[in-house]
Amino acid sequence: MMARRGFLAGLAALAGGLIFARPGYTAAVDAPAKPDSVKPIKLSADEWKERLTSKQYRILREEGTERAGTSELNAEKRDGDYLCAGCGLVLFDSKWKYDSRTGWPSFYDVYSDHIGTKVDKKLFYERTEYHCARCGGHQGHVFDDGPDPTGLRYCNNGLALEFRPRSG
Ligand SMILES: [Zn+2]
Repeated sequence: MMARRGFLAGLAALAGGLIFARPGYTAAVDAPAKPDSVKPIKLSADEWKERLTSKQYRILREEGTERAGTSELNAEKRDGDYLCAGCGLVLFDSKWKYDSRTGWPSFYDVYSDHIGTKVDKKLFYERTEYHCARCGGHQGHVFDDGPDPTGLRYCNNGLALEFRPRSG
């Protein structure tokens, strides 16, 4: 009896850890999650390589940057949510998206509890890097030349996002 309960609890724990968005897969993602639901997840490099394309891996796990103008999300104008392509956590609402003319999907606001930031000194000037609060996946950089009302520009790699249109 005890052994069986342990087995089932193990299964439940396993299932709880398996809510990942594979490319093209958005069924099990959360509705806009409350901050307390953001529990960090950790996977090995090999596990990430199984779940992501090589280009997504380069961006999300190695802080790469896609070439400007290459994301189909630049032209996306429908209502919906933009989710982390690594784990499905919702990061942006389409109402915050605007055309920054930079060639990368850009937003003037973010679900701030769903990202973390750090100073990035890779270039000759400092930038503020931001990443998914749940899986740590690199998303982009935030700048202070955005439009009202925030004045911020979240410059995001399209490959690090998945768009989920709102139905109805
Ligand atoms: Zn994530």
